[in-house]
Amino acid sequence: MSRRVFILGSTGSIGCSTVEVIEHLRSIDGDGSWPVVGISAGSNCELLLQQATRLDVEAIAITNKAALEFKNIFSNSEELLKAHAKPGDIVVAAIVGFAGVAPVLTAVKCGCDIALANKETLVAAGEIIMKAVQKAGVRLLPVDSEHSAIYQALSEHPNAEIAKITLTASGGSLRNIKTEDLSNATVEQVLNHPTWSMGAKVTVDSASLMNKALELIEACWLFDVKDDRLEAVIHPQSIVHGMVQFVDGSVIAQMSPPDMKLPIQFALTYPKRVDGCSPKIDWANHSTLQFEAIDKIRHPAIQLAYDVIRLGGTAGAVFNAANEEVVESFLEHSLPFGAMVPIVAEVLGTITHSENVTLESVVAKDTEARELTRKIISSQKVNS
Ligand code: NAD
Ligand code: MG
Repeated sequence: MSRRVFILGSTGSIGCSTVEVIEHLRSIDGDGSWPVVGISAGSNCELLLQQATRLDVEAIAITNKAALEFKNIFSNSEELLKAHAKPGDIVVAAIVGFAGVAPVLTAVKCGCDIALANKETLVAAGEIIMKAVQKAGVRLLPVDSEHSAIYQALSEHPNAEIAKITLTASGGSLRNIKTEDLSNATVEQVLNHPTWSMGAKVTVDSASLMNKALELIEACWLFDVKDDRLEAVIHPQSIVHGMVQFVDGSVIAQMSPPDMKLPIQFALTYPKRVDGCSPKIDWANHSTLQFEAIDKIRHPAIQLAYDVIRLGGTAGAVFNAANEEVVESFLEHSLPFGAMVPIVAEVLGTITHSENVTLESVVAKDTEARELTRKIISSQKVNS
């Protein structure tokens, strides 16, 4: 089998893993298979050009373009898609953050299936994206490992048979740090993740458990469940990625070593499965699988996710925007680790939420939330 592919955010962690998966699939399906029509990135022209040559792509898009020479170059992912995407193509959405919303919507409108890594798009604009997906009759295939697991466990079971969806969380790089030391964790400590190698933002989100909070909201949209059928548990080994408990009490889980190439490949080849290029489980090395409840006092991000789910409307856009801003400040060493989640909570509690969810209202709330977050961050800097 083979499909025409676009990789948005190709120079990032998920993007680079997707390039490996494509090369693996080409090795199975032969010359000319899995054509990558276009790739895009925010920066890192050098790697983007290397990937373009390596994959023999038709067109590229880069937002921060320096002097770059390529036969067919666009200034953003939407332009690239409008010019080259055809119904039936698959677009790997691996841009980080809210910047991914417009490209995903464009891809859906072009009739493309989406392999979605970019969870922030569903958190901020889930209602718009799900409606667009339904209208276009395309597939939205999760790449986030937990959601890929749930998708696999659910299979063809109808929504009414779901009793509970459980997402697992590694606990992030600070899992073994005492609660009283959490607030002053350094950027270096936070970026040293024990089981996953990922981009900087998602690694910070993992440490604050904001990643799990975003994923709970993502799961609501993907699987049409509310907070009463959704939970997250700590599972330090990152072997079980997600579980579905059905109404009869049976639990189906998906397991594999922590490697994003598996969910990426699953989305690309769906509904088929072919030989995988990621490590396989060796049970001799996994004699212990632990699960523990998340301490909601230590990790207030989880309660915020449930608040966002109950609030609905544009609350997700506000929550996501505030989080993107605090993470950026933390990574710039301008905000302590422990200040991030309380600021997101303050922004979520201050901004009024609108029931009217349109792309315009979501963009407006995103902007309002970023401005307020930056104001709070600078006032904290002045006071410290
Ligand atoms: P990353 O920071 O490594 O890469 C992000 C990519 O997006 C880069 O190629 C960057 O150039 C590109 N980008 C940023 N702004 C852009 C724009 N405006 N237009 C085009 N490209 C732009 O991030 P990542 O770790 O690969 O994560 C990507 C997404 O996948 C995130 O939403 C993350 O939460 C999600 N995710 C990542 C992992 C993982 O293992 N890394 C796992 C699950 C989900
Ligand atoms: Mg995940």
